[in-house]
Amino acid sequence: MNKAEAMSCVYKNPNAPIEDRIKDLVSRMTLQEKIGQMTQIELCVATLDDVRNLSIGSMVSGAGKAPLEKVMPSDWAETVDRFQQAALDSRLGIPLAYGIDAVHGNNRFYGATIFPHNIGLGATGDADLAQRIGAAVALEVRASGIHFNFAPCVAVCRDPRWGRCYESFSEDTNIVRKMTSIITGLQGQPPVRHPKGYPFVAGRHNIIACAKHFVGDGGTENGINEGNNISSYDDLERIHMAPYLDCLNQGVSTVMASYSSWNGCKLHAQHFLLTEILKDKLGFKGFLISDWKALDRLSEPRGSNYRHCVYTAINAGIDMVMVPYRYKQFIEDLTSLVESGEIKMSRIDDAVERILRVKFVAALFEYPFSDRSLLDTVGCKLHRELAREAVRKSLVLLKNEKNPGKPFLPLKKNAKRVLIAGTHADDLGYQCGGWTRYWQGSSGRITIGTSILDAFREVMGEETEVIYEKYPSPNTLAESNFSFAVVAVGEEPYAESAGDNSELVIPLNGSELISTIADRIPTLVILISGRPLLIEPWLLEKMDALIAAWLPGTEGRGITDVVFGDYEFEGRLPMTWFRTTKQLPINNGDNSFDPLFPLGFGLTCSKEKTTE
Ligand code: BGC
Repeated sequence: MNKAEAMSCVYKNPNAPIEDRIKDLVSRMTLQEKIGQMTQIELCVATLDDVRNLSIGSMVSGAGKAPLEKVMPSDWAETVDRFQQAALDSRLGIPLAYGIDAVHGNNRFYGATIFPHNIGLGATGDADLAQRIGAAVALEVRASGIHFNFAPCVAVCRDPRWGRCYESFSEDTNIVRKMTSIITGLQGQPPVRHPKGYPFVAGRHNIIACAKHFVGDGGTENGINEGNNISSYDDLERIHMAPYLDCLNQGVSTVMASYSSWNGCKLHAQHFLLTEILKDKLGFKGFLISDWKALDRLSEPRGSNYRHCVYTAINAGIDMVMVPYRYKQFIEDLTSLVESGEIKMSRIDDAVERILRVKFVAALFEYPFSDRSLLDTVGCKLHRELAREAVRKSLVLLKNEKNPGKPFLPLKKNAKRVLIAGTHADDLGYQCGGWTRYWQGSSGRITIGTSILDAFREVMGEETEVIYEKYPSPNTLAESNFSFAVVAVGEEPYAESAGDNSELVIPLNGSELISTIADRIPTLVILISGRPLLIEPWLLEKMDALIAAWLPGTEGRGITDVVFGDYEFEGRLPMTWFRTTKQLPINNGDNSFDPLFPLGFGLTCSKEKTTE
C-alpha cells in the first residue's frame, strides 16, 4: 500500500469508531512496524531516518544526561514537530507520542510555571486545585509540542528516607487517591458513562497522563529507591494499588511499571501484577510503559543478556519500552523472539492495539503538531497565580510561639529592620528541587520566578530595611535592632536514588545556622524540603515559628501571602513528622508510636498582628 492508498483507509477516518480504526490499522502493519510502535527512543540518539523507516512509536526526553541546548518551549516545539513529520512520512503515517516528565509544571523548560512538588499538593488536600493544576500543565506541555506526560506519580510513600518522597502526595493512601484528580486536569473530564479503564483524552489542549510507578514503589524496605517491597498481596492492594483504581476511573491512558520489586521479583517481570491484575482484573485498556532502561535491570550484570530481558518484560505485559538508547538491539531481539515463537504474535498485537488506542483517543492522527497559539500560556500570569495559590495552601505551620500565649505569626508588613538569611532564602533552584530544568535540579536563577527574598522585598513597605545575608556575619548578628529574622534552610535538589538518605538531618549546617540566629533574634524558620527532616527538641525550642514549605516551585509570593496574614494557613502534614530516624518506617498502627508531629497536623494563626 502506498501513501495515497493509506489516506483512504478506515483508520484515517476520524469519524469511524476507534476500535474499528485500530483493527484496520493493525491488519495493515508488518511485524517491523508493530515492533517500531512498541519502541520509545531518546531524542539525543534519534535520527529522522530511523523514526521514519522503523516506524518508531514514541520519543522521550527524560531522566539521564540528555543534552538540552534548546530549552525554550518554542524551540522545543520545532524539534518535536520535525520528528513528528518524520513519523508521519512513514509508510502508514502513524504519529509519534512524545513524552516528558512534566511532574510539577513543564519543568524541563525555561520560563514555565513551576508548581509545588506532589508532597506540597498533598499538604493542600485540595483535589479541585490539583485538577486545575493538571489543566494548566497540559497547556504548557502541549505548547511545546509534547503529547505525553510521565505523571502523576501516585506512589504512597511510607518512608521519608526514600529519595522520591517528594514525588508522592502522601503516606496516606486516601490523600493520594484524592489527589489523582490531577489526571482529570491533564487529560480532561471524561463523560459520566466513560467505561472504566478505557483511556481518555478530551482534546488537543490535553495530554496523555501516566500513573506511575506500578506498584508498591513507595513501600520498599528501608525506603531504598528501586528496592524491594515486602508485603502480602492484601497490603499491597490496600495501601499501594488503591490509587490506581481512581486513576482508571478517570480514564488514565498509560501506566508505568516500577523499577522496584515485590517480594523479590522485579515489577517489570511480574505477569501476575501487570497482566492478571492491572489489565485483566482492573480492566486497564491503555498501554503499560516500562521505566527508563528498566529492561537492562532485569539481568545481572545490568544490561547483559538483553534478549532474555526483552522476553521477560514483554511476556509479563509491558506494551511500550522506554529503551531509550539501544533501540536497534531491542528491535532485533524482539523480532527474533517473535520469529522463534518465544513471544506470541497475539501479545504483540495486544501491545500495539493498546498503543494505537491511546493515539486515536488523544486525536494524534488529527492533531499531530504543536499548537503555537498555546505558547502564550507558558508561565502566564494566570498559571503563576494558580501556582501561588497552591504554595499558600501547601504551607504547614508547625510552630507559632516561643512563649505561651505569644504567637509570632502573622508578621507585620511595616517592621523596621528585617534579617533574611539561609541557604534557601534566595535560591529559585533550591525552591524548585529536583526535576526542574535538569533531572537532578540545580541551584540559582534557573528559571523565571520569585524567591523567598524577592517575595519579602515585594511585600515589605518602603520603611522596612531588609538585610539579606546567606550566612549572617557576627557583626550583623551583634546588631540588636532587628524586628525579626527569617531563616530559610533545607535540602539541596536531588532526584531518585541520589535522594536516598538515612540520616535526614538539615543539610548545609542548617540546624547550626538556625540556632545561631535564633539565639539572638526572634526567628521564623522556613524549611524547604521534599520530606520531613530531623528536628531535635533543643532546636525546635529555639524557633519562634516553623513552616514546612516543601518544594514550592517558582512562586515565592505564596509564602508571604500567609506569613503576613493575608491568608490563613491551610496546609496539613501529608507525612508523619518523625522524632528520630529510629522510628522509620512510620508505623501508625503502633500505639506507643510518638511522632514529633502526627499526620494531618497543621496550625493556623489568628488574624491579629502580634509581632513587632
Ligand atoms: C524515572 C521515571 C521517569 C523516567 C523518564 C526514570 O528514571 O523512574 O519516573 O518517568 O525516568 O524520565
